[in-house]
Amino acid sequence: MSLLKGLLDLIFPEVCRVCGADPARWSPYLCPDCEAEIWRPGMRFGECADIPFVTWIGWLGPYQGAVRTAVHAMKFGRQRAFARHLGWMLARRMPHQAPRPDLIVPIPLSRQAFSKRGFNQAEELALGMADALGVAARPGLLRRRVTGRPQRSLPLAERVANVRDCFELGAATLLRNRRVALVDDVATTGATMAAAARLLRCAGAAEVSAYVVARTEKRC
Ligand SMILES: [Zn+2]
Repeated sequence: MSLLKGLLDLIFPEVCRVCGADPARWSPYLCPDCEAEIWRPGMRFGECADIPFVTWIGWLGPYQGAVRTAVHAMKFGRQRAFARHLGWMLARRMPHQAPRPDLIVPIPLSRQAFSKRGFNQAEELALGMADALGVAARPGLLRRRVTGRPQRSLPLAERVANVRDCFELGAATLLRNRRVALVDDVATTGATMAAAARLLRCAGAAEVSAYVVARTEKRC
């Protein structure tokens, strides 16, 4: 261990972001137990096609236990590097039959949420995924057009209408024939993903898949 690393470890000790234990030798962010809970060897992504305009959605785990704690640490603890690590995990968990994207696009936060939090966790996930896959991430491609009401405050039936027209294309990017992967931290009904995917498909994207760290319920 170098002197510099020793000093950095004293000032900024690396701990598991879920339970606070010593991290695994191969990961600065998770201990072996928590990594095993989030990333179970042999566990496959859930797969279903229950979101309009989205051909495939994958997630690391259900929104509970270590996965839920990891999402909270990333999001509310403002842990950008950990968010990128989770994005890397998402890419590495991609099963063979998952569509292989050539463009990664994070779901944008509302302006209010962004200024409150200071960063967009989905953007960090997208950058981690893009790095692992060797493809481009375009954080500015989608923008929030209006400030709708927070999805969590609405009954399921109203969520689709609330987000239907809430996105616009922020960057003049050629989407024709691109295979786009949308990335977000948590998906529940998928209404937000569907609204974003609809816009991307209308702009010429050949396919839109979706990747989230957690899904609140398995729907297929
Ligand atoms: Zn742990």
